Amino acid sequence: MASRDFHPADTVIEIGDVRIGGGELVVMGGPCAVESPEQIDEIARLVKAAGGQVLRGGAFKPRTGPYSFQGIGVEGLEMMAEAGKKHGLLTITEVMSPEYVDVCAQYADILQVGTRNMQNFDLLRKLGECNRAVLLKRGFSATYDEWLNAAEYILAGGNPNVMLCERGIRTFESYTRNTLDLAAIPVMKQLTHLPIISDPSHGTGRRELVEPMTKASVAAGADGLIIEMHTDPDNSMTGDGVQSLFPDQFARLLRELEQLAPLC
Ligand code: PEP
Ligand code: MN
Repeated sequence: MASRDFHPADTVIEIGDVRIGGGELVVMGGPCAVESPEQIDEIARLVKAAGGQVLRGGAFKPRTGPYSFQGIGVEGLEMMAEAGKKHGLLTITEVMSPEYVDVCAQYADILQVGTRNMQNFDLLRKLGECNRAVLLKRGFSATYDEWLNAAEYILAGGNPNVMLCERGIRTFESYTRNTLDLAAIPVMKQLTHLPIISDPSHGTGRRELVEPMTKASVAAGADGLIIEMHTDPDNSMTGDGVQSLFPDQFARLLRELEQLAPLC
């Protein structure tokens, strides 16, 4: 069902007045993690003012070690939903296990499957039954075929609103956190009708690379971007401050993007 042969026309996911995959760029911005009501409210205001359409923020965080900050859970979902509503933004948050799909779907417009869960088949099956759009990140060592098969689980379960997200893969290079595979964007455009979003934040792990890789992603044909932005990146509660843009950088980048492609 994910194949272009099966469905030649591009899938356009419509949520409110935002169209994902319809030829206009969608920008999702926000912190790695929701930290407090004030933090997410202020960042939502800045995302909206810059021209973004979707507020990102993790309430359940997949951390490499069990002693790291794990996210603030359902309270974070509530804070983000409120900030999104107040500032007129859709929201996206990560769901890590099947038992949290319903509560995440209650608060967020788009559910994110993180790279570590791309082949969590029970989670994918549960998302197939839910009525929220899903952003499926590529596993950091997944082939295109494995990624498309993961999307297939959600589609086969009855949920047609799936977008893919290239977020970098693991290679021998250690200067960057991951290697953003730009070729994945035009390849996915060929192989599937599903929208493709690029994540230059996790794809590079370095703030100074987010701008050039955002522009390169747009040039490669991405339907949208998911970008980390924080008002105080040096004190962010996850280690992802180093890859988060400052608000003025985020605003400048979106202004420059408008020269390249119309924003939603
Ligand atoms: C995130 O978006 O904050 C995240 C944890 O992403 P990934 O699953 O790509 O590492
Ligand atoms: Mn992050």
